[in-house]
Amino acid sequence: MSEDAKTRTFLVYYGELSLKKGNRAYFEQRLLKNMQRALRGLGVQAVRRLFGRLSVEQALTHEPSELLARLQRTYGVSHVDPVVRHELDFDAVSAAVVAQAKRGGFDSFAIRAKRVNKKFPVRTLEMERRIGGAVAAATGARVDLEKPDRVFRVLILNKDAYTYDDRVEGPGGLPIGVGGRVGVLLSGGIDSPVAAELIMKRGCHPVFIHFHSAPFTDQSSVDKAVELADTVCASRIAAEVQSIPFGEVQQKIVASSPSPYRVLLYRRYMIRLAELVTRRRKCKALVTGENLGQVSSQTLENLSVLDHTGHLPILRPLLCYDKQEIVDLAQEIGTFDLSIEPHSDCCSFLLPPNPITNAKLKDVVELEAALDLEELLQKAFAEREVFPVGVRP
Ligand code: ATP
Ligand code: MG
Repeated sequence: MSEDAKTRTFLVYYGELSLKKGNRAYFEQRLLKNMQRALRGLGVQAVRRLFGRLSVEQALTHEPSELLARLQRTYGVSHVDPVVRHELDFDAVSAAVVAQAKRGGFDSFAIRAKRVNKKFPVRTLEMERRIGGAVAAATGARVDLEKPDRVFRVLILNKDAYTYDDRVEGPGGLPIGVGGRVGVLLSGGIDSPVAAELIMKRGCHPVFIHFHSAPFTDQSSVDKAVELADTVCASRIAAEVQSIPFGEVQQKIVASSPSPYRVLLYRRYMIRLAELVTRRRKCKALVTGENLGQVSSQTLENLSVLDHTGHLPILRPLLCYDKQEIVDLAQEIGTFDLSIEPHSDCCSFLLPPNPITNAKLKDVVELEAALDLEELLQKAFAEREVFPVGVRP
């Protein structure tokens, strides 16, 4: 709580941002904007840059728990310190720590001070010693610098001093947006929403692309993809799902190619359609939920044939994860229950019993030449629908 007692303050730290020397100001600015968006409606009065950290002021009329929960989902945040702000006055700071310590609940403690303002008259070590002595005298607890039950922290900045004894871990990663846009192929399954989350963690902004087989199947997969994308974006970003009718393309493939190649051909035409979308959105890569060896069609040979379809690199954040690890992540990000609800998946529609596991690019290219799908692709692309998800801009 601040001295004026109308707001409480949080200091927000970022980890990897400081590694990117040249881009630092840009990264900080992006994180600040992302935080402002994520904290909308929570009584936040100001988010400011403050000597290599960000400060957030929240009105006391709002609870801090939701604010902390949102920051724990804001990529780029390494940790958050809920602090109490003071004047630049050593006695006031020391008295505040002693008052806090008197609430008890520990046998050993340490004081950790940091003095950014070198003009502050009491040096770091001396601060730690004097406040440590005062706390020991007031509580009877002993100082333990190695493994303290409790750590009391003091931070001296240029204009204010801060005390705190709690630290909330953030999610790490990089602020969404600093990596540019990517096209995420989003099915209604378990994997692709998790792939989206992981690529967002590395600072990429998703443009979701979903393929459905309506009118041959119902529309449920579209609703589901939109809901999944909305869950992934939540209060963090504004994004969109581009939903593309794929049934006619599939029908043509089924009618004219050997069944073991079906899934691979579906995927290659999905990639081509996705690239039509991503070109307009200036995306730098495609992202899928593919995994190595999870299903018999996901072999290195097949992934390689897919890599030679379009122009953008295909990123596969889940490539090396076990299914259980993916399920755990899906539960953590809140998409699992939705993903396992039944829907008409365009790839189980007309799914062959015996997909090829070691396709050769040459054979696939030959099959495609005979298919001549260009016109149908253009039609599917023209008939796409766009649904906004996440934060409303
Ligand atoms: P998921 O759980 O994401 O569906 P999966 O393990 O079921 O993945 P596949 O169904 O083989 O794997 O799909 C592999 C990837 O291809 C998906 O993760 C997704 O990125 C993309 N994909 C599959 N079907 C669709 C679809 N209908 N729309 C968009 N992308 C799709
Ligand atoms: Mg699937």
